[in-house]
Amino acid sequence: MKNNLSNIKKAVKILNKNQCVGIPTETVYGLAANAYSSDATDKIFKLKKRPKKNPLIVHYFNLKLLKKDCEINDNFLKLYKKYSPGPISYILKLKKKSLISKNVTNKKNTLAVRFPSHRLTRNLLKQLNYPLAAPSANISTKISPVSKKDVKDEFGRKVKLILDGGQSKIGVESTIINLIKKPQILRLGGIPKEQIKKYLNSHLVYIKKSKINSPGQEKTHYSPYIKLRLNIKKPNRNEAFVLIKKRKKMNQNYFYLSKKNNLKEAAKNLYKTLRFIKKRKYKSIAVEKIPNKGFGEVINDRLKRASNFK
Ligand code: AMP
Ligand code: MG
Repeated sequence: MKNNLSNIKKAVKILNKNQCVGIPTETVYGLAANAYSSDATDKIFKLKKRPKKNPLIVHYFNLKLLKKDCEINDNFLKLYKKYSPGPISYILKLKKKSLISKNVTNKKNTLAVRFPSHRLTRNLLKQLNYPLAAPSANISTKISPVSKKDVKDEFGRKVKLILDGGQSKIGVESTIINLIKKPQILRLGGIPKEQIKKYLNSHLVYIKKSKINSPGQEKTHYSPYIKLRLNIKKPNRNEAFVLIKKRKKMNQNYFYLSKKNNLKEAAKNLYKTLRFIKKRKYKSIAVEKIPNKGFGEVINDRLKRASNFK
């Protein structure tokens, strides 16, 4: 704990100098910088090799600072009360007088905002007088990181400080919901869309292909840069086989996302397992069929995009 407090102090110093810090969140690790500074947010795009047209999600401690930057509405307040802090990002209208860097929004008048629940990152946000722009801490289009070590593997010494918050509890990115007009899901994620639909008690569309160009919507994404095949009953020889149900026989090339067919647990283990397989130098990955409901739908979304890598 003591160590964490001194690391948070260090993080504040680095962020105040407009540099990036790796931060733990309950979804995945983020690469954070001052969202009000173009100098700072430029560094995020450079480090990640992320095209500038892809907007960033901005992380807030609570509503106080958010109200300076965004127009809030009833749907937002309803969802905020139930799900924040937590794995959901909201698209809101940006206020004209907001200080958010144009880099963050790709010069648009909307902003994606989130309130992460990870204790360490909340402690950090509380001590800053600016919000943090923080996309996932990985090179653009590759697998998201779920531990400090993963972030280190992505950026080496280019990122001075990564706060260690253990393995991310959710393990997949936040759900993104557009609240500018009628609520629309733009990205499946940490809170299953059926839950949100039930809670809002309204029609809720899922826009698979957003007009807004963003990494979560790109064709190849979340990729281990290995060939990946879906809905496989029997893997080829020398191919890694990713499973969610325990088999009677255990083979060396079998990798379980869950042994109990638990989809939430499987989502948590998804990126960790793909990284592990990559380290073992497999040339191809086969994945057994995953039920397309709840967290299974999120897993299938990520794997589908990853399977576009040829
Ligand atoms: P990442 O930070 O890597 O999880 O990816 C950021 C995601 O935020 C992208 O996939 C976009 O879908 C989304 N995003 C950020 N800003 C906006 C915005 N203004 N409108 C729609 N989507 C956004
Ligand atoms: Mg990302």
